[in-house]
Amino acid sequence: MNNAVDIAIVGSGFAGSLLAMIARRLGRSVALIERGRHPRFVIGESSTPLANLLLEELAQRYDLPQIASLSKWGTWQRNHPDIACGLKRGFTFFHHEFGRTFEPQQDRANELLVAASPHDGIADTHWYRSDFDHFFVKQAQALSVEYFDEVALRSASFDADTAVLDGERNGKPFSIQAQFVVDATGPRGFLHRALGLAEAPFKHLPATQGLYSHFRDVRLFREGSTDAESEAPPYPPDDAAIHHVFDGGWIWVLRFNNGITSAGAAVTDKLANELKLSEGAAAWERLLSRLPAVREQFSDAKPTMPFVHSARLSFRSSVVADPRWALLPSAAGFIDPLLSTGFPLTLLGVDRLARSLAETGNAAELGARLETYSRQTTDELLAAERLVAALYANMDDFPIFSALSLLYFAAASFSETARRLGKPDLAPSFLLHNQTSFGPKLKNCCELALSRQVNGNLSEGDRSELLVSLMAAIEPIDVAGLSDGTRRNWHPVLASDLLAAAAKLGVDRAAICALLERCGFNCQADSKPALD
Ligand SMILES: Cc1cc2nc3c(=O)[nH]c(=O)nc-3n(C[C@H](O)[C@H](O)[C@H](O)COP(=O)(O)OP(=O)(O)OC[C@H]3O[C@@H](n4cnc5c(N)ncnc54)[C@H](O)[C@@H]3O)c2cc1C
Repeated sequence: MNNAVDIAIVGSGFAGSLLAMIARRLGRSVALIERGRHPRFVIGESSTPLANLLLEELAQRYDLPQIASLSKWGTWQRNHPDIACGLKRGFTFFHHEFGRTFEPQQDRANELLVAASPHDGIADTHWYRSDFDHFFVKQAQALSVEYFDEVALRSASFDADTAVLDGERNGKPFSIQAQFVVDATGPRGFLHRALGLAEAPFKHLPATQGLYSHFRDVRLFREGSTDAESEAPPYPPDDAAIHHVFDGGWIWVLRFNNGITSAGAAVTDKLANELKLSEGAAAWERLLSRLPAVREQFSDAKPTMPFVHSARLSFRSSVVADPRWALLPSAAGFIDPLLSTGFPLTLLGVDRLARSLAETGNAAELGARLETYSRQTTDELLAAERLVAALYANMDDFPIFSALSLLYFAAASFSETARRLGKPDLAPSFLLHNQTSFGPKLKNCCELALSRQVNGNLSEGDRSELLVSLMAAIEPIDVAGLSDGTRRNWHPVLASDLLAAAAKLGVDRAAICALLERCGFNCQADSKPALD
């Protein structure tokens, strides 16, 4: 065992292993320390276009081809059919009222389908984390990362030059010395405890709890129903992250290709107390009994593991980094699974730490750059918090909820396109929160939507003003036709939308065409795959 390394990374989720691989590619010696043993269950499964793009960019920049092929459904299925995965063509939302069976409305006012890809080949995925993370750790070992599992770390001590992590492994003392430590152990993780870091409150987010499991035999939503809708949806609604939204919370349903479906609920404390959420399976049944269409979807379902109850989902550390250590964004904070912000925020952090490693020669130089890393990590978390809190405040008002969520989809599709065009400077931050024009509009819309928390329901006038402001905020960055009301809440991915938005990205139509062809999307025929 080499007990003196350049970098010690604690936590071997995908993010810790990925950063470990990158650090090896940059010539650093790395120890990766895990308290458990792979394969193991961990929650957090649904990826997004931005998360997959970041994964692809990191894999290309640091020469990790095995990882690159996990950034799209098509290449994943061809190269790693042994790693379970779910097909995610988009984000599907259904709005429910307690005690009433969900029925689609003619104007689709109680649903929202936002496609993230034009066809399966380049679609996003749900990561079956026990397989996915195990694969990452094996890849890290193949790059000579020193991996230590089943380690119970007890302490971390830091002096001017060195960090020392002490604990126990297989009943024997365990100790690692490193120049720099990265905490990749998730919320309330290793350094939070070892250094007694204080937790910082969120300003807007309600206190929420989680309850989740994995299931077999979950049906498609409204399986067998014959609706009068003449138009085909932009993608099969179940090949997506399904969100069942109701007053006080929501349920996610993510289908994997191995017969397993991940499902769970995030609900406010008020609803959690009514449901007695800590009772697990019984609370799940109580929640489903209020949601007849969801209960039907789960009528044959059998959990494959005990329910997990999380008594507090959100978390924010008051400190993110120090000259000798850094928390990954996933250890620095968590908001809610809504909008799947966890992976992109984490990968943005991995990207920033990787660049800092690449551009500095030693730990002292690296430490000096962490102030910016801390600020960006916190600012992005708080921007995401404001939007998710605004969504929670409007779960009983679906037109507002869906228009607010378009802020996220507009910013995400603009950011993805800008990065794919080689213009990352157009989208320097998550949710474009610090973009001069969009940032303040995002903040204002969220604050007006959040005013319900203090003032009660919005007046009709304020509601209309908010809806107008939301569309006005989205339009200048909308490259996906999201502000086109004639689509009635079904948003496909169309080449024509991107072509029409070329000027918003400062390019001509030829540049967009070239981009579409590079991404496997036929520029001339909106919905026909060029390759898969
Ligand atoms: C209910 C829920 C649902 C979510 N859904 C989504 C989603 O759909 N999409 C999304 O983008 N994000 C989601 N997230 C967030 C997502 O889980 C995280 O962003 C993601 O897991 C971060 O990955 P990671 O590798 O940094 O950490 P983790 O996956 O948390 O891995 C941490 C690792 O560290 C190890 N560890 C912990 N403590 C120690 C210790 N003391 N010593 C050594 N090792 C330790 C653990 O065993 C684990 O292997 C969700 C989160 C929750 C709570």
